[in-house]
This record gives sequence, C-alpha cells and structure tokens, in this order.
Amino acid sequence: NRTTPHPRARAEIDLAALRANVRSLRARAPRAGLMAVVKADGYGHGALPCALAAIEAGAEWIGTATPDEALALRAAGVPGRIMCWLWTPGGPWREGVEAGLDMAVSGLWALDEVVAAARATGTTARIQLKADTGLGRNGCQPADWAELVSAARSAEAEGAVRITGLWSHFACADEPGHPSITRQLTAFREMVAYAEKEGADPEVRHIANSPATLTLPETHFDLVRPGIAMYGVSPSPEIGTHQELGLRPVMTLAASVALVKRVPAGHGVSYGHHYTTPGETTLALIPAGYADGVPRHASGRGPVLVGGRVLRAAGRIAMDQFVVDLEGQEIPEGSEALLFGPGDRGEPSAEDWAQAAGTIAYEIVTRIGARVPRVLL
Ligand code: PLP
Repeated sequence: NRTTPHPRARAEIDLAALRANVRSLRARAPRAGLMAVVKADGYGHGALPCALAAIEAGAEWIGTATPDEALALRAAGVPGRIMCWLWTPGGPWREGVEAGLDMAVSGLWALDEVVAAARATGTTARIQLKADTGLGRNGCQPADWAELVSAARSAEAEGAVRITGLWSHFACADEPGHPSITRQLTAFREMVAYAEKEGADPEVRHIANSPATLTLPETHFDLVRPGIAMYGVSPSPEIGTHQELGLRPVMTLAASVALVKRVPAGHGVSYGHHYTTPGETTLALIPAGYADGVPRHASGRGPVLVGGRVLRAAGRIAMDQFVVDLEGQEIPEGSEALLFGPGDRGEPSAEDWAQAAGTIAYEIVTRIGARVPRVLL
C-alpha cells in the first residue's frame, strides 16, 4: 500500500488538540453548553472522529448543516443531541424524527413537513425555530415570526413537535465592533421573548459562533456553537491569530518531496512560466495541488516549510503538484514538506495560506480533498 507509511500527501489530525480547543472554548463560555459544529466533514478534518473527540472533551451537542450529515453521524453511533439546519423541501424529516435529531425550522413549509413526519411516525419531533435577526440568509424574518411561533405552538399542543430551541446566526461577529452585532442581539432577545410569551419553553437559546464565543460573552446564552475555533483556526485576523487565541491547529498538511533537480538560470517553472529561475538552482517538486485543495490562487505565494526554510510556491500551483525553488540548497527526495500545521517546527498556518490565496482559513481546511488521507494522531 503506497499510501502508508509514506503517502504522497497526508493530513494529520491531532484529536488531542481538538479536545484541548473544546475545553478552552468551554472555559470561555462557562455558563453555556457547547455544540461542536462538524459540518462539511468536520471542516475537512473528518466529522465522526471530531464529533467523538468533542463529546469526550465535554461537548453536549453536535451540529451539522445538512440532515444527511447528521443522520450519518447517528448511524455511526454518535450519541446524544445532534442538530442540523440546512433543510430543503422533501428532505429526510421522517428519518430525522426517528433518529431523534433536533431539526431547524425557518418557515411554515418546514414546519408542515416535520409535523407530517411526526404524525406518520407517531413520535414527537424536536424542532428549533430559527430567527433571521439580520444575517439575511436562513431563518424566519421578524415580520413572519408571530405566524411561525403560533403554528409551532399549535403543533406542540397537538404533541407533534417539541420546540427545543430558539436560535439565530451572526453576520459580522468576526468584525469586532460591527454595529450589526448589537442589532442582531437586540432582535434575538426580542424574538426569544415573544416566543416565550407565547408559551414556548425551549431547552436552549443560542446564537454564538466561534468569534462570538471567543469575544462576546453577552452572546453565549444557553449554548455556544463554535466550528472553526474548535479546529484551532482563527475565524479572522481581526479576532487574532490562533496563537493569540490560545488555540492549537488540529490539521497538519504534509507532503513528501517527489523530485529534486538542478536547473540552469532562466528556466521557466510550471504552467505559464510565471516564475523563471534567476540563476542556476535546485527545484523541489511538492506533490500536492489544487485537486488536493492547495489553492491555485496562492500561486507564487503559498508558503511551505521544506529543508528547514519556509519557501514560496514558484510559479503556478497545478492540479496535483507545485514547485519550490530551493535556491541552491540540496535536500533528498522524500524529505518532508509541511504546508501548514500548528507551527511547532516553524511551518506556516492555514491562516497564512488563506492570506496567500486571498480567502479565509475556513476555505483552506474545508477544501482539502478526498485524495488526501486523513491520518488520526
Ligand atoms: N452555526 C451555524 C448555523 C453555522 O452555519 C456555522 C458555520 O458557519 C457555525 C455555527 C460555526 O461557525 P464558526 O465556524 O464561525 O464557528
């Protein structure tokens, strides 16, 4: 098997780091529970091992975007509360009811479908009403809230549903001081108060993602819902680096140098010849490319620790590989190249790659491709 013990590229997943991050986040929200967000295959880290590690570290809830993600975790044996929020008409409500999921409801069509599924199974469905307090994405607008609450309360009186949660999501919590934060918080308090006045008695009220968990204690309510911070990655440069936030990156992306060769001065490198060797030099081939999630937008800039130095991608990042100029240094083939990791060996971070690619670190980790084996540490 050529993928072990020396795979071309691998993503090492440090579950001890994830557990430490969960404990650190819990300590920042001491009066709230914690929902570990493991959508998009645990932000690329592997949903199941991350969910189990988070539970071990004290997370009471698991959160996913799609119902399929939540159902897969339940089928794999994840116990306890699992919530999912991105439903489409005709979705697997019945399976969700049977699996005991907490299912987000943003509007009347969703309520109708979940009530029908509950009646068909003779079970009470757990629903969490989502308020759009200003994100303008999923969730119920304030103007439609009374109607949704009233319909949900009727379904609750009938025994078809139990309103287990009232919740919302921030638009700009990663921009400290953004005026929308206070506006959303005020709207959330009002929408929660209205639903409770109408008789809703939720177990949990929640709105805090990672940046809010880290920087806005007044947003913690009963439950915080961190995703990116649990993986040891900063939500945004404005919030701080992962070091400043006391978080430890969970993923290390490593590759094994595939080829080292001498080339003369003036040699073009990679598609388009956007790099030309300034003098006679040595090139190293890093066997990971944009099909593995190494962003092509970081061509010419993406950093990698190789031969003890951080070097930049020379020329374009291709589908499966890119090149670095070792500037005359000699290293053996098979040497380790570290694209990003916790930084212990001087390697760059996912945040550095985000900056090099003009994107956010969320995109760097979630897009690491299926071709890259995840190696659990
Ligand atoms: N809650 C919801 C509804 C989300 O969609 C997300 C992710 O975008 C999160 C929580 C976690 O966000 P973050 O990764 O910024 O902590």
